[in-house]
Amino acid sequence: MEQKQKLEQQLQHEFALASVAELSSSLSSPSAPQSAPFFARFSVGCGVAELRFRQESEFVDGYTVDLRTAQLFKLGPVQSVCISEGSDTDKEKSHSKGVTIQFRDEEESSTFHCAFEQWKEESIQGENLPNGLITVSKKSKFDNKVEPSSAKMYFHYYGQLLHQQNMLQDYVRTGTYYAAVIENRADFTGRVVVDVGAGSGILSLFAAQAGAKHVYAVEASEMAEYARKLIAGNPSLGQRITVIKGKVEEVELPEKADILISEPMGTLLVNERMLESYVIARDRFLVPNGKMFPTVGRIHMAPFSDEYLFVEIANKALFWQQQNYYGVDLTPLYGSAFQGYFSQPVVDAFDPRLLVAPAISHVIDFTKTKEEDLYEVDIPLKFISSVGTRVHGLACWFDVLFDGSTVPRWLTTAPGAPTTHWYQLRCVLCQPLYVMAGQEITGRLRMIAHSSQSYTLYLTLSAKMWGPGAEQGGILQTSSCKLDLKEPYYRMSQPQAYTVAQDQQPHQLMNPQDIQIQADDLEEAELMQQPVQNSGAQLQ
Ligand code: SAH
Repeated sequence: MEQKQKLEQQLQHEFALASVAELSSSLSSPSAPQSAPFFARFSVGCGVAELRFRQESEFVDGYTVDLRTAQLFKLGPVQSVCISEGSDTDKEKSHSKGVTIQFRDEEESSTFHCAFEQWKEESIQGENLPNGLITVSKKSKFDNKVEPSSAKMYFHYYGQLLHQQNMLQDYVRTGTYYAAVIENRADFTGRVVVDVGAGSGILSLFAAQAGAKHVYAVEASEMAEYARKLIAGNPSLGQRITVIKGKVEEVELPEKADILISEPMGTLLVNERMLESYVIARDRFLVPNGKMFPTVGRIHMAPFSDEYLFVEIANKALFWQQQNYYGVDLTPLYGSAFQGYFSQPVVDAFDPRLLVAPAISHVIDFTKTKEEDLYEVDIPLKFISSVGTRVHGLACWFDVLFDGSTVPRWLTTAPGAPTTHWYQLRCVLCQPLYVMAGQEITGRLRMIAHSSQSYTLYLTLSAKMWGPGAEQGGILQTSSCKLDLKEPYYRMSQPQAYTVAQDQQPHQLMNPQDIQIQADDLEEAELMQQPVQNSGAQLQ
């Protein structure tokens, strides 16, 4: 406690002023005469930095300025005005307040302005430690939630040209972005654009092609240097592009943007947690009602049946059933290995005929969603099976909409559509469910963000018992699993030319209703890319 007081004392600073007045009327405390000197005191209390004014020993009532929301403007060489928002808790004072401050000389004015900016910064970045001590950290929103080792690996990955090339060579992806920008040039012409996570700078160059007035290309990795080089080598476009190296959570831009462009999608849309950076960039840089490319994202989900896949995963753990591995019994670890394999979401391109019910979708509106909404995504599931089969899990994919004012365009990663480098994702249950045609499958997919820039997935699927017993007490088959989206199983050793030779009937499974195929005239072979094998940072 003593130490805390000491710390708080250190975090105080007082300035003498010539006078302080409310914007309209003169401020004074009841007891002190007008001529008595005024003081401004910056302090940190309970983790909140504030500015208070006092005349002699009395603090002026009602003029506590919360530095998180306050702004200071120079009216003249020795006069400034401090504007602050009223407190949220006090409804009557919820309007803005203004105080004019008269300094004794110019030097005092400039020292006060410097101090104000410093204290303000600390108020935004300061944190309260759990033990009650106040610490002033310089951490950004990104640093506060992302494990440094994860961030290091992540930006190292994107700093390499080969990984940018992998994305550029996904012609479905890049071609759709190009079409969305060029077909909607009205949204770009004469506009200020921010490219959120610019990578090689390709989307900035597209925006410049579409007539952008100026593009700020923000990129945190070393790729920013390459982007500068690429942009400098395309001078007719490059003169309207500024590359800014840094995180969108941290950099400052000289002006607001009319439109944001970004490619923040990871596997299952949310992997990498870059959507949060996209939303933070919206709040920091976009004018009210500005456009976002992409505008909306949807996660689509449907139960699937795939006996081959199930057996393949279950068999991986068989190794641990050996009782005499160089004289060692491996079976104590069989259960853990089995669990481990089923905790990996499977990333590959599958045939949409494996789906056993029409897909449902979860919409994320990038223009509206709050950053915190992405920390936990909870999706209730309900399907009606179209066939009698064994359900092995939940298949997921996503699409995004570029809601251009001329031509709205979708980029889809659906099964059956031209393959992208995202492929599709399947969560496989270690205990399949048996369903009949027409039977209801219910459940839940919970996705909880973690500090390694990914999510833990909790999947539960249930099917009510079918037949005579069903009416008498709702006997349920339920199967659950926990998966780590950061550790997928890339099952792409050969292109998946799906054959129906599995030990299941070639059932007439559903094509998901909402598959939108933006057919490009590209060869399938061109579209199939080998994912980069487990490099530690399994991205997109
Ligand atoms: N826009 C490029 C690259 C997309 S990949 C393209 O479409 O080809 C995403 C890029 O965003 C990566 O280069 C990554 O380094 C960058 N990035 C991710 N999070 C970021 C953040 N918070 N601030 C700045 N850049 C970020």
